[in-house]
Amino acid sequence: MLKEPVVLLKKICQVDNHHFSIEWTDGCISKYRLSTLQQQCPCAGCSEARKQGALSVDEDVTAVRISSVGRYALRVQFRRGCSAGIFDFSLLRYLNKELT
Ligand SMILES: [Zn+2]
Repeated sequence: MLKEPVVLLKKICQVDNHHFSIEWTDGCISKYRLSTLQQQCPCAGCSEARKQGALSVDEDVTAVRISSVGRYALRVQFRRGCSAGIFDFSLLRYLNKELT
């Protein structure tokens, strides 16, 4: 089985209250809006709500803290709304392609 190249997180930077960026070990830099990320929260509750079109996210949501989970994912503690989601790096990379 072919292994995908492993891209890891090098650095997380807060851009402003609503955006942060990630620098990856392959040199790519991704930028995210916190509310957009929260809209994509991968937890079971939000996935279900999203399916029903019932997920509402405050456009101006800010974060208390962004921390890495092991070597493969990020967890964002938002000031409002759901903070249960674990955003793994492949999801983050995928979202970045979708959103920019
Ligand atoms: Zn959630």
